[in-house]
Amino acid sequence: MPARERPRMRLGHDKRLPLTLGVILVVGFLSVNLYSFTVSSNAVREMLVQNTLPLTSNNIYSEIQASLLRPIYVSSLMAHDTFLIDWMAQGERDTDQVIRYLQAIQQKYEVFSAFVVSALTLRYYHHDGVLKTLSEDSKKDQWFFTMVPHPNAYRVDIDTNEADDNQLTIFINHKIIDTDGRFIGVTGVGLDVANMSQLIADYKARYDRDIYFVDRRGIIQSHADERLIGTADIHERAGISAIADQILSGEQGSLVYSGDRGPVFLRYRFIPELDWYLLVEQGERAAVARLRTAFYHNLAAGAVVTLIVLLISTYTVRRFHERLARMATIDRLSGLYNREAFEALFARASASARRYGQPLSLILFDIDLFKHINDQHGHLAGDRVIEQVAQLVQRGRRANDLLARWGGDEFVLLLADCDLAAAHRLADGLRQAVSDAIVVPECNRPLTLSLGIAAYHQNDTLDELLGRADEQLYRAKAAGRNRVASGA
Ligand code: GH3
Ligand code: MG
Repeated sequence: MPARERPRMRLGHDKRLPLTLGVILVVGFLSVNLYSFTVSSNAVREMLVQNTLPLTSNNIYSEIQASLLRPIYVSSLMAHDTFLIDWMAQGERDTDQVIRYLQAIQQKYEVFSAFVVSALTLRYYHHDGVLKTLSEDSKKDQWFFTMVPHPNAYRVDIDTNEADDNQLTIFINHKIIDTDGRFIGVTGVGLDVANMSQLIADYKARYDRDIYFVDRRGIIQSHADERLIGTADIHERAGISAIADQILSGEQGSLVYSGDRGPVFLRYRFIPELDWYLLVEQGERAAVARLRTAFYHNLAAGAVVTLIVLLISTYTVRRFHERLARMATIDRLSGLYNREAFEALFARASASARRYGQPLSLILFDIDLFKHINDQHGHLAGDRVIEQVAQLVQRGRRANDLLARWGGDEFVLLLADCDLAAAHRLADGLRQAVSDAIVVPECNRPLTLSLGIAAYHQNDTLDELLGRADEQLYRAKAAGRNRVASGA
């Protein structure tokens, strides 16, 4: 059957199932993905607040304590060194001696600086040479004078180091007590805070967390961005300003503030050794960035799966639809159009004939004495004959002609652009061809057809045209069969 001539018969909506499937899949994928994204985001947020940030804060605190341990030990060692105590007791005579000593300490323990201050002379000895004499009036020198009443043997101070471009340094200041228990000075080492900045930068790179220190006033004292050090105040920084007082009045805790890229989770902790607050922050966006990527990947995978299902279901439904359409329009035994299909196609053919003013003829033909074949050779042999006739006529017809099995042993052939005379010639040729070609086994009589022809009149219905063709067929049968009869 030529596909282009398939009659348009609506057998159902072949797009409805793929569309429904598509909608179900899209809604399903979206909601499952959104749900799992929300659940995991909440879990990550909770992890961050409950575990991750406090753990990071604790780790850094431990590292600070660990990194102070050695310098405190070295300072203690110096404060108890009999050489130093004796040298001071003997009147600080050979300056070179103490400088060599300080140089040795600085090099051996790889500290940033090593120093001694004498309570007697107020002279400040540095590993690079004598620096200055302290003055009780100088604000910068107060660290020394406040050491005297300090209850502990040592104190950690953070200060700008005058000996080195005023860089921020942590000093371990240790009291020197002579054998009589008198306070005779302070010795210690200085640590470069740049080391700590490096440590914090490493954390930033490893965990994408911002870690920095502020003093009791809220001024940033250590930060990966060194421009902020000593100048930026958390009371004036966007977002965190809202919780600055809360941080500076507490010991430790977890807070949230709204940063310019969404919520920021913050863990703060006071570090008594430094007299600073340690702040660890992480933006929600950075924390759930991996989840977000996974969410988009899942969506993409869902889209691909949906597309594949849509393609497969569309293909399957279309094939199923085609099979149904075929079953509804094609006669199973002959493989020709059935009556319903022919009726639909006739409407198209007659409209076309009207539009182009072309003649249209219809041949109604019937196998002669077909009942005999059934009776003598069986129903199956009869079927075979119907098949053979159908195939023969089908093969012989022109592309624009419509052939259908009308029922039983009766067929119709609609001839496009064909007048009655031409149709008559064609019908006779058909009759001849059938009786020449088809032989019923075990039957010496050739198979014959009777054919009735009618010409299409303007505005004929199929029934009217068929009625006239049927009259001619009746005439042909009545006149002795195996012949063509035609009339306008
Ligand atoms: P006539 O020359 O007058 O047409 O004689 P006829 O015997 O062919 O009579 P008619 O056309 O009325 O008979 C049609 C017969 O075809 C009747 C029916 O039993 C038989 N028939 C109808 N459909 C089928 C079919 O699908 N297969 C077979 N084997 N026989 C069928
Ligand atoms: Mg018949």
